[in-house]
Amino acid sequence: MILTSLKQRANAISRSTFGNIPLEFWQRVFPKDVIALCYHMVSDEVLSHFQLLPFKTAEQFEADVVFARKSAITYGQLADHRLRNQRIPRNSILFTFDDGFAECFTVIRPILKKHQVDGVFFVATDFLDDAASFFECRLSMCISRARALEAERIDPIINELRIDAAAPARNPERHRAALDRLKALRLQTDDHPRRRALYLWLLSLGVDDRREMERACAVLQAYPTKANDRSSIFMSRAQVKQLSMEGFTIGAHGLNHRRLENRDPEGLEHEIVSCCEVVREVTGQERVPFAFPYGGLGVKREVLADILRRNPLVELVFDSGSLRRDPRFVVNRVFADDPPLEASTNVPTALQQSWCIPSAWHRA
Ligand SMILES: [Zn+2]
Repeated sequence: MILTSLKQRANAISRSTFGNIPLEFWQRVFPKDVIALCYHMVSDEVLSHFQLLPFKTAEQFEADVVFARKSAITYGQLADHRLRNQRIPRNSILFTFDDGFAECFTVIRPILKKHQVDGVFFVATDFLDDAASFFECRLSMCISRARALEAERIDPIINELRIDAAAPARNPERHRAALDRLKALRLQTDDHPRRRALYLWLLSLGVDDRREMERACAVLQAYPTKANDRSSIFMSRAQVKQLSMEGFTIGAHGLNHRRLENRDPEGLEHEIVSCCEVVREVTGQERVPFAFPYGGLGVKREVLADILRRNPLVELVFDSGSLRRDPRFVVNRVFADDPPLEASTNVPTALQQSWCIPSAWHRA
């Protein structure tokens, strides 16, 4: 914990010191074979199931594609390079998309096709066809409903949920995280003294608080498999198959998007292989890349190497370490979801910010 916050502070200092150095400098001095960009959602609509994370509009995303298309490579090129020593141009760019939201098919796919750019779509396989609901979407819908509540409805809802705002937090670490999230979401809390308590209670729910989440969804009437008037939150198997037939690569992103960092090696192997098998079954791909839900920087690389050796189905592994050094079978990614402040693409800025921290200072 202390180490993490020290590292965060050191990175913040690096960013304020070196953050304005032009991208070309970094590309020349510390080139990378590939810069993999990671998106979750692109949409022009306000989505009640996607309120907790930033996302770009179609136009903003297209600006990124236009910026990157000259350097864009396919997943196949990257796999050939990393695993079979084929050459790719320095500082190539690969587009990747996590979670398998319906917008991958309806919004992202047409833009990539228009510019003839490849993409890797990492799907959490239980969510295909909306067969299971995603904790984060349910939480987002509850927050969205809580935000829309009129002030006089708050007390009855709090009572129905049996929230005791005066009770000490059950899990102080989670409570701190909820406070941070509340701040980051800039939710309006001063119109009613207990609206804040409602948000905090919701934001401190964890994946394992199933009963509480069921209760919250029922009381707030947040329906997890229907996004307002839309029919689906996630892609269908048929859409995933079509993406694959059109030449895009489908990757696996866990069965139900549970955090995998603390799993024992057997449990980890089981989850990685199982979701890759589902992707193979849907698409017919012989090899399936895998991306860690929530990131897997805490997973030992020797353990991963063993899993890959035993399971040739699983190909490259994608993680969330920005431009940090890792073995060749791991592709770290830079998050590109934050919408730009200006009218043009903000990918160059995101890359400058990623390149200016010491963990990116190596040639790859
Ligand atoms: Zn994810």
